[in-house]
Amino acid sequence: MTSLDDLPIRDDLRGKSPYGAPQKVVPVALNVNENTHPIPEAVAHDIVARIAAAVIGLNRYPDREFTELRDALAGYLGHGLARDQIWAANGSNEVLQHLLQAFGGPGRSVLGFAPTYSMYSLLALGTGTRWIAAPRDDEYELSPDTAVRAIREHDPDLVLLCAPNNPTGTPLSIETIRAVADAARGVVVVDEAYHEFADPGTPSALELLPGRPRLVVSRTMSKAFAFAGARVGYLAADPAVVDALRLVRLPYHLSALTQAAALGALAHSDLMLAMVDEIRGQRERISAELGRLGFRPYRSGSNFVLFGGVDDPRAVFEALLARGVLIREIGLPNSLRVTAGTETETTAFLEAIAGFAPNRS
Ligand code: PMP
Repeated sequence: MTSLDDLPIRDDLRGKSPYGAPQKVVPVALNVNENTHPIPEAVAHDIVARIAAAVIGLNRYPDREFTELRDALAGYLGHGLARDQIWAANGSNEVLQHLLQAFGGPGRSVLGFAPTYSMYSLLALGTGTRWIAAPRDDEYELSPDTAVRAIREHDPDLVLLCAPNNPTGTPLSIETIRAVADAARGVVVVDEAYHEFADPGTPSALELLPGRPRLVVSRTMSKAFAFAGARVGYLAADPAVVDALRLVRLPYHLSALTQAAALGALAHSDLMLAMVDEIRGQRERISAELGRLGFRPYRSGSNFVLFGGVDDPRAVFEALLARGVLIREIGLPNSLRVTAGTETETTAFLEAIAGFAPNRS
């Protein structure tokens, strides 16, 4: 049997592990921060009709510029954004990859604040960009001073700010984002994958775009929008940034089926986002209940909660899995992460975790 080590693989990929969240079929899957509510049936029917219409034309390549989709995404984001400021790809992972391909690469660096989304370092690796992990403050917070100090020290070509941060859930203040955007020499990407779950009134980095041509705000339809399986992520930035990304994308990277499906979902954005308040409520319930049980939930502006106070995370993860509840071990000491699901799923998680509570009586 040939093993990976026998292959003439790039030296910098040797011995590395791929992104590896377990994919298991379980009754309660709360491990990858999806929206666990299925798509409303009325929306599903419209999407099917649009896909059916697109199938007839699959003999031709799709609209390489996905013009209609960019218009719809600009309309969804608001903030006076126009089509030429929007880019999209197969998930925001691919959007981030395009950014690193265009602005990173050999001899360049990208800085993030660890612990943060595990794909950042892998995308850096794949594009030959040097990954710099700068530290956070206590409780995984990130103050303007701490962030700016790291940027002055390392002078990176790119900065990746995860707002709110995965896997910690930590909200990021607009003051920190502004301070980073003003201090950095390079491109500053604010990954707002979970922004829709932030407390109402939380400003988006989209507000900071005017007059800042090196600032990029990325979003996804995978989380609040309940569309992870369709693979659609997007960004808003200066039109020149979008032009740069055209240099690195593969021609026709967004299939006609993806474009049709995304347009269908965006046409019903109110219905697609209808469960966001409910999910935020379940997140608050998880934080309150975990606190009561004696765990240490961290502040979250997302659809998941990281909590400390777990004596043996591996054992608890396995025990919950045996009860059909899949959560996430993310390698932080004494901590586990759980996605806020439906009320029933959340109840299943809370009942299962109660058996491991520090305050167990
Ligand atoms: N950014 C963050 C912070 C994420 O947590 C994720 C998904 N886990 C993504 C980006 C990528 O999501 P997608 O490719 O599905 O848009």
